[in-house]
Amino acid sequence: MSQTNSNMLLIDVHAHLDIEGYEIYGGIDKLLEECIHNGVKVIITNGTDIESNRKILDIAKKHHIVKIALGIYPTHCLEMIEDGQEELFNDELGFIEQNIKDKKCIAVGEVGLEYSENKETLTDTKKRIQKDCLRKFISIAKKHNVPIIIHSRGAELEVVELLEEEGMKNHKVIMHCFSGRKHLVQRIRDNGWYFSIPCNVNRSLHFQQIVKDTPMEQLLTETDSPYLSPDPGKINRPDNVKHTIQKIAELKQLTVEETSNIIYSNYQRIFL
Ligand SMILES: [Zn+2]
Repeated sequence: MSQTNSNMLLIDVHAHLDIEGYEIYGGIDKLLEECIHNGVKVIITNGTDIESNRKILDIAKKHHIVKIALGIYPTHCLEMIEDGQEELFNDELGFIEQNIKDKKCIAVGEVGLEYSENKETLTDTKKRIQKDCLRKFISIAKKHNVPIIIHSRGAELEVVELLEEEGMKNHKVIMHCFSGRKHLVQRIRDNGWYFSIPCNVNRSLHFQQIVKDTPMEQLLTETDSPYLSPDPGKINRPDNVKHTIQKIAELKQLTVEETSNIIYSNYQRIFL
């Protein structure tokens, strides 16, 4: 079993606690108890649709370790608009804004562009709809000065360009699990944005390179639980950020304590 990491301050800025799968760990209550025991201080749970946004708000009411980002995943934005549910979409934007004002929600996410799924049928119109939706989320984040957590699969350049167009340079932008090329990594770094590094940094030369190329002050850690487990095929869990911290420490030639302290203070500076 995992040992206590009381000397580590672990932060997971991108997880999905409302999604099925945690039963194998005895359910969400038991899982979160173990995460606390293993040094996790905060789990930012990201909403992906209307139902998910409500489920995670409920989870946060019960567990002080859970903080909330509300959003609609780009594919779901597209479905809503194509189904003629624009009014419902706009209502949800209002719901998100209200929860930011009420301090129940500390960030906008998971939002962005998804150009990898259903690539064959992804028309320019579908891309434009996703971009229009993302612009609305950006304007909420900007207006309330809260961080925005960005999904960018298959649309890395488009996301960066859109954020720049919307005047987000030096705003709190967190690139979740970013797969773009080196020149985009540099552009993100120069824009003062952040990378949240997933557990697979241990195997992925791409993420190792991002860590090497980015100042410690611009790095955060995430799991995307229950997805992206460091053991392929398993259900990921927030305390797996310890593997990420170990790898970042090795790459930056710091101790794990120093690394987790810096990333914890990054979290405090960006989200609180
Ligand atoms: Zn996610």
